[in-house]
Formats: sequence, C-alpha cells, structure tokens
Amino acid sequence: MPKYFDTHAHVNFNAFKDDADQVLEDCLSQGAWVVNVGTQKDTSVQAVEMAKRFNEGIYASVGLHPMHLFSQHVDEEESSFHTREEKFDSDFYTSLANSPKVVAIGECGLDYFRLPSGDEQAIKSKQRDVFEQHIALAAKSRKTLMVHCRDAYDDLHKILKKERSKVGKVIIHSFIGGLEDARKFIELDCYLSFNGIVTYKPRKELKPGGSSPQLYEVVREAPMSRILLETDCPYLTPEPKRGQRNSPLNLSFIALKIAELKKMPAADIARQTTENALAALELKTV
Ligand SMILES: [Zn+2]
Repeated sequence: MPKYFDTHAHVNFNAFKDDADQVLEDCLSQGAWVVNVGTQKDTSVQAVEMAKRFNEGIYASVGLHPMHLFSQHVDEEESSFHTREEKFDSDFYTSLANSPKVVAIGECGLDYFRLPSGDEQAIKSKQRDVFEQHIALAAKSRKTLMVHCRDAYDDLHKILKKERSKVGKVIIHSFIGGLEDARKFIELDCYLSFNGIVTYKPRKELKPGGSSPQLYEVVREAPMSRILLETDCPYLTPEPKRGQRNSPLNLSFIALKIAELKKMPAADIARQTTENALAALELKTV
C-alpha cells in the first residue's frame, strides 16, 4: 500500500511541463500515489497520457471544470490566468473515461465565485446542466465523481441529493464549507478532501488565501473514514512551503496539520486517508 495518496493534483498542468515525469517518479519513490485531474479536453488527455507512462500509482480524472464553460480572466492571490471556453463533449469524455487509468470524472461542479459577466441565472443554470451531464457520465462509466464547488454548496447539495443513487463514490475536492454543509454531504456518503488551505492562518471568512476556525471544526468533526488528502498542486502550497510551486510531495504537511487538529499521530492520518483514497477510487493494491 502507498504511504500517501494525493487524490487531486494537476501535474498535468503547464507548471510541470519541464519535469512532470520526474516529479511523479519522485512521488512514487517516496510512496505517494497521485490522481492528476483534467479541467478541459487538453488537460484531461494530458492526465491520461501521463498515467499510461506508469505501471501503477499514477491515475487520471477527466472532465470539464465549470470555470471553462466560459472564457474569462481569473485573478486571484495564488494564480492569474485566462480560461478558454469549451462545450462539454460527452462522446469525447466518454471515450477517454474508458481508459483503465481513469479513476474519476471531473473536476466538474459549480463555481459561483468565479462568474463571468452576463446573465447570472443563465450562467448558473448552464453550470448545473453540465454538472448533471458529468454525473450521467460517471454513472455510465462507473467511475467516481470528482466535484469542484465554490460558493455553491446549497445548489450542489440539491443536485447530489437528487442524483446521488446514480453514482458510486463522490469526492468533494478542496472542501471549505461549514459544519452544516459538511454534515449534509457526509450524510450523502461523500468524501471530503482537504488541502493546503488547512495549514493557512485562519481568517474570519472562508476563502482561499486563508483558512478559517470553522474549517478546523469541520476537520475535527468529520469522521476519519470520510477524509481524503489532496494538494491541488501547483496551487495552494501548504505552509511552510508557501510561495513555491506546490507538488504532491507536500502532502505530509497537510497530514501533519490534520493530525494536530484531530489529535492523532500523523502516520495514522496518512494510513487512514490512503485507505480511504483507495476505496473512494475503487483501486485495489496487493
Ligand atoms: Zn483542481
């Protein structure tokens, strides 16, 4: 069994264009397994191709991020880029999903934080519609659903409540909701995945760039069997490495913070979250 499992990484992104394979080899030699997550066609293909170059331990998730449904400029503390508009091509993603290296569908979901200008209701409704198409794809291909959600936990819950029985496993990546949200998603048998945000100094409000006392409560209260670790690299580098490019090799810092919050040994956090990841992605190890 691997020592750590990064359930949501983007070593398939440009930030790693010169050393992706080396980074992944380093991960494997240190016992960290990785799922690289696609956010549109090219990064999804890239994730699958990358996984194919390794015998085991490197996997892919394919899908269309809600941010890429529109072209817009995204400018945030840790990243600034321009998104390209893409239509959800179900046939394209279905054929990619047939690869045995693909363990999940996404990242897909709702992002009401980064809305382009225009008819807000129409934009949100398009996001919900495309998310439901991803759910249908996950159901058809029998893969785990890899969910992105920002400022939209209520709508996400409504959709998942209605559609939950269609899909097997559901991962809510980079969970930053409150206790009530956490309870509702755990009730729907979802996994909550945590990253470097938990290592940031708490701010009053929940938003990237800071953690929150509320997020600490969520980590403390969430059953150990529902927790996953991720880096979301190259973004959200955990302390004390903030300012550098993030990589799956930084998972240990996240495990350490969760261990502190849960008052458990870090080795137990690593082992249990790795077991959870294998179950959430329906991977078997010898
Ligand atoms: Zn991501």
